[in-house]
Amino acid sequence: MAKMRVARVIAAKQSFELVEREIPQPAAGQVRIKIEACGVCHSDAMTKEGLWPGIEYPRAPGHEIAGVIDALGNGVGGWTTGQRVGVGWHGGHCGYCDSCRRGDFVTCQIALQIPGIGYDGGYAEYMIAPAGTLARIPDDLSAIDAAPLMCAGVTTFNPLRNSGARPGDLVAVLGIGGLGHLGIQFAAKMGFKTVAIARGGDKEPLARKLGANSYIDSKAQDPAKELLKLGGAKVVLATVTNGDAMSAVLGGLGVNGKLIVLGAAAEPLQVQGIPLLMGRRSILGWPSGSSIDSQDTLAFSAQTGVRSMNEIFPLERAAEAYDHMMSGKARFRAVLTMAH
Ligand SMILES: [Zn+2]
Ligand SMILES: [Zn+2]
Repeated sequence: MAKMRVARVIAAKQSFELVEREIPQPAAGQVRIKIEACGVCHSDAMTKEGLWPGIEYPRAPGHEIAGVIDALGNGVGGWTTGQRVGVGWHGGHCGYCDSCRRGDFVTCQIALQIPGIGYDGGYAEYMIAPAGTLARIPDDLSAIDAAPLMCAGVTTFNPLRNSGARPGDLVAVLGIGGLGHLGIQFAAKMGFKTVAIARGGDKEPLARKLGANSYIDSKAQDPAKELLKLGGAKVVLATVTNGDAMSAVLGGLGVNGKLIVLGAAAEPLQVQGIPLLMGRRSILGWPSGSSIDSQDTLAFSAQTGVRSMNEIFPLERAAEAYDHMMSGKARFRAVLTMAH
């Protein structure tokens, strides 16, 4: 039997092990993907540290997958071998719960399947995925370019395009990291007047290079006051994981402004009720998107030149890539590559 290499976690909080396994066969409705690249996401900690309730081991993490279909299970329509595809956070759904029957697969209440959590993900040379989770990769996007867009990309692109903000509206991106550096690019390319907010002045040149029209140093300035000076934000895309940093920008929302929470903050947010109700302001979260949202993200990125800034690691250095990403030092995404 042909073998593949897999970087997997044996049990919660244990180190990675690189093993050889048989290359799996796709069952009905599934495809096998020959993986070319897989992004390393902060949510891989769900697998590595055992934070996801009921997760079973051993498990290969990874939900930012880019590769090529190399085998089809029975009954798969619409896809052929050789097509370049990606798989992201949305890796399967039940098909019968209320959310699924409304076509809202990513909020599936019964069996949302996440690659690398519910089944083995992209820290491997091959994987199996349900055909309904595939996103087509445009020709002019490399696998390394495509991989981080399958989670970090769609997670910022999709809430922005569904936010109700229109070209010329003031949109702020809070935090310049793996998500934020993509959020700034998407906001600018969508035609929003784009503001980047981060601590300290050192990230301003990069923020402007990514397309930000303005920069607010939240250490030296009050970000809420600065946003109001610019007219008040229609949207603040909060990519930080700090509740206080999110609370500090709420006062900068304009009428009908929305704080969109993408970062999993440990601390609660501090919210004043009256400004919310008087200005019809709101706070909401957004859970990335389904496979077609990912495909739209890839297509928009190819069309407009949005790219993730990546540090590349071969699969056998998955442990190092994971630690680097968790340390917060990655500039800005870590991506594993597979040598076939
Ligand atoms: Zn992710
Ligand atoms: Zn469902």
